[in-house]
Amino acid sequence: MSLSMDDRDGFIWLDGKLVPWRDSRRHVLSHALHYGSAVFEGERIYEGRVFRLAAHSARLINSARLLDYEIPWSREQIEEATRAVVKANGLPFGYIRPIAWRGSEVLGVSGIGTTVHLAIAPWAQEGRLSVQARDGGINVTMARYRRPSADFAPGQAKVAGLYVICGIEKDRALKAGFDDALMLDWKGDLSESTGANIFLVIDGTLVTPKPENFLDGITRRAVMGLARERGWPVKERAVKPQELARASEVFLCATAAEIVPVGSVDGHHYQAGPVARTLMADFQKLVRKPDCESFGESTHLAPSPRAAA
Ligand code: PMP
Repeated sequence: MSLSMDDRDGFIWLDGKLVPWRDSRRHVLSHALHYGSAVFEGERIYEGRVFRLAAHSARLINSARLLDYEIPWSREQIEEATRAVVKANGLPFGYIRPIAWRGSEVLGVSGIGTTVHLAIAPWAQEGRLSVQARDGGINVTMARYRRPSADFAPGQAKVAGLYVICGIEKDRALKAGFDDALMLDWKGDLSESTGANIFLVIDGTLVTPKPENFLDGITRRAVMGLARERGWPVKERAVKPQELARASEVFLCATAAEIVPVGSVDGHHYQAGPVARTLMADFQKLVRKPDCESFGESTHLAPSPRAAA
């Protein structure tokens, strides 16, 4: 099988139809390509079901609304389309990329007058982690760019344009021999990595930055739920980067990476300890539950008032 993303077998759901993979193309003068206005999701298929499908589909719709456009399919229709394309590709396990974007009717900074498109592409992809990373943890460095405040960008939206700084920092980290980079926020507090949320274990408490203007991950919410089920204290609060030195464990979590221990931050080493290991095992059970497509702990993503209008 070719590794190129545009040269594969299978089907992509594109604007209401299942289209052969290689024919899923759109015009170069699309608004989203020029102005970063696409919104997207990353989802995982476990045993044929999409973990937290309802929450991901709701977040996709909410992301578009934060950019002042409406996806012309309801959450229920998006869920149905996702199940259909997973089935058409015969994937019991894998990754899914839904993406909505503004099209090519007019081209200018304003997106007014463009139509909104939606594609859903699933493919076979196991976790992105090597066994070595899972056992020993990944090595991360500190990023230079910071997550912007709500005055500067709609940080709760999973929007293509906001990933520019993530991509630059991830590339910089990889070129310097690290696996990823940790980003501070505009105040200088710890926020997240370039594509995952972060937890620290400090004096037996799970501490995680309060997502004031960055992505409140669906995996993050699931991890908080699992920790509480075990009776472990969880605190969402501002976290100073200096607190990394006090943590007994640090781990990241996101849909693609699931839960990944951090083995070092700029040479300061951590064990992939018992908290992360226990949560990794609990998470594997959670994602295989028959009701895993529901909102679960992610009720904060339930439709906003505009959805009912
Ligand atoms: N932050 C960023 C910047 C991300 O790209 C992701 C992955 N979507 C996350 C956090 C984690 O979000 P989730 O658990 O919903 O995948």
